[in-house]
Parts: sequence; structure tokens; C-alpha cells
Amino acid sequence: MIKKSVILAICALLIVACGGESETVQKGNSDVAAQQRFEWKLVTTWPKNYPGLGTAPEYFAELVERMSKGRLSVKVFGAGQLVPAMEVFDAVSQGTAEMGHGAAYYWKGKVPASVFFTSVPFGLNAQEMNGWLHYGGGLELWREVYEPFNLVPFAGGNSGVQMAGWFNREINSLDDIKGLKMRIPGLGGEVITRAGGESVTIPGGELYTALQTGVIDATEWVAPYNDMAFGFHQIAKYYYYPGWQETGSSLELVVNKQAWESLPDDLQAMVETAARAANQNMLDEYTARNNAALVSLVDEHGVQLRRLPDDVLIELHRISDEVLAELVAKDPQAKRVYESQKAFQKQATDYHEISEEAYYRARRLR
Ligand code: CA
Repeated sequence: MIKKSVILAICALLIVACGGESETVQKGNSDVAAQQRFEWKLVTTWPKNYPGLGTAPEYFAELVERMSKGRLSVKVFGAGQLVPAMEVFDAVSQGTAEMGHGAAYYWKGKVPASVFFTSVPFGLNAQEMNGWLHYGGGLELWREVYEPFNLVPFAGGNSGVQMAGWFNREINSLDDIKGLKMRIPGLGGEVITRAGGESVTIPGGELYTALQTGVIDATEWVAPYNDMAFGFHQIAKYYYYPGWQETGSSLELVVNKQAWESLPDDLQAMVETAARAANQNMLDEYTARNNAALVSLVDEHGVQLRRLPDDVLIELHRISDEVLAELVAKDPQAKRVYESQKAFQKQATDYHEISEEAYYRARRLR
């Protein structure tokens, strides 16, 4: 009897001791984690502090710095300051910088499926894109697509529906696109090429000169607020809408996978939260500033606002479907992403017809 209770008592002591020790070890670890400081570099595809696009990563960095009380500090580099705009993906993938901000469709040469995480012609609008990414399986697919590249992506802003772009000639029929050399990235560019034009991808900072010197005849960029900042109204006459090629473009914040995994859980939560806030903040800013900029462009700068004719839009839509079908036929991963997004778009279109669209119409009735 005595022997048995002694053994039990020793066992109990051991259990307490073990438990106590493991608590000490855990507490020790979390103290170390709470003191650890991280200094990250964030490279972008935009000029430093460029309105909306370039201020989003600054906003993100400031939030993270404040939330973490300086435990995670993120230094933002504009295009060309640390790496050129079109090397952001590789730089973060290889760990030259821990983070990047840009647009997934810039990397379509490496990752065909990436276009779906920015915008595809006649695709989702901003509200729908955010719904698909965060509640429709989009972000999970994006993580899967970027995994082999050592990157963890987050939505990092949304432009809303863009403009079709700046042209020095009128577009009255599809014939007017023939021979047109236009800066237009993503699948929209392939549509323009197939319609008889020539598409090029040039980073934002080089566009003004390219259009001014006739290297290109037309360019799409974003929408009035951003386009006015680049001064395109000084060198192009016609400003066309709607932005069929970018219907609610999502920007991306990417994190190097090892850098992400090195963060303790609380800092990961702060990065996630700040990314979500920066994502919404950009859309809010565009919603407020695009209309004001458009008034100024038309009333003060004499910009000719033009709507693309319906038959041109119908034809561009037809070609877009063709380009998408060919892309997904060649790339099984792109096919999976496309099918997820397309199913979401079908639902969203049906519902938005009786909600958003019906309301837009209703408020114009009076
Ligand atoms: Ca654009």
C-alpha cells in the first residue's frame, strides 16, 4: 500500500514538474519572440509614393510598424530603387527583399494563371474580386499557384473598374485598332494583338515619354486620379471608357515564404490585417478621388471623353473569350483557377443584376 502511494506521489510530482518546466520553456520562447525585431524591405513596381498604387504599400508599412510597436519595420522601395519594376517577383522569391507590391498579371510569362488574381477582360468587378478572393476560394488558389515560387500572396489593393485608356485617334470600329501600338498588359494585351493591334507592357514611370515620343499610340493605365497624376491629358486627346480590360484589378502584396514563416504568430496576424486594410483603403481612395479627377480632366483640361462603341465592346468580348479558352487549354493550373472564378462570376452576375445594377438603374429613374 505504502509503496504504491509513494510511486503515485512521485508520478504526480513528475507530471507537475514536467508541466511546470514546459510552461517555463514556452514562456521563455514567447518572451524571445516578443523581443525579436524584424527589418524588412518591400520592393514595388510603382514609382515611390505614386498616388494610390504607391501609397498603398506605405500605408501597409505604417500600420504594421504601429501595430507591432516597431517589432516589424518595413522599408518601402519604389521601382528601380532596389530592383527594377519588372523584377519584383524574382527579388521577393529569392529573398533579396522580404516583400513586394505589384500586380500578379505582370508575371503571366512565368505563371499563366496569375492573370486571374489581377483582372481578366470582362471579369469580376472590385467587390466581386474581393468576395472571390476572401470567401470564394480565390486566395487559397493563389497561395497554391505561388507556392513553387516561394511566395505567400495577399490582396493588396483594388483599382475598381479602370478606363479603356488614352488614344490619339478615335475608335469608331474595330478597324481603328488595326496597327495601333498600345501599352496594355495582361490578357487585354493579347486581345488587342488579336484584334490587329500591337500590345506592349511598359512600367508606369516610363509611359509618358513612350506616348509623347510616339513609341506607343495609346495606353491604358488606371483611371482619372492616377492618369491625371501622370499627365496623359497633355499628350493624348481622347479618353475612352469603360475599362473592359481591367474590370476591378486587384494588386498584390507578396511575402517571401521563409520570411513569412520566421514571423511569430502575432506579427503574422498584423501583416494579414494590415494587408486587408490596405486592400480596402485603396478602393476607398479611388472611389473618392476618381470622380473629382474626371471633372477636372474634362472641365479644366478639355479632355474628350468617349465611350467605346457597343459593337467594338462585343467584338473585344468575343476575342477575350477566345484568348481565355486558349490559355486554359494550354495550362491545367490556369484552367482550375479560371473555372473557380468563372463559376463565381456567374453567381455574382445573376445576383448583381437584381442588386447593384438594379439599384444603379433605380437611382437614375427620377
Ligand atoms: Ca490598367
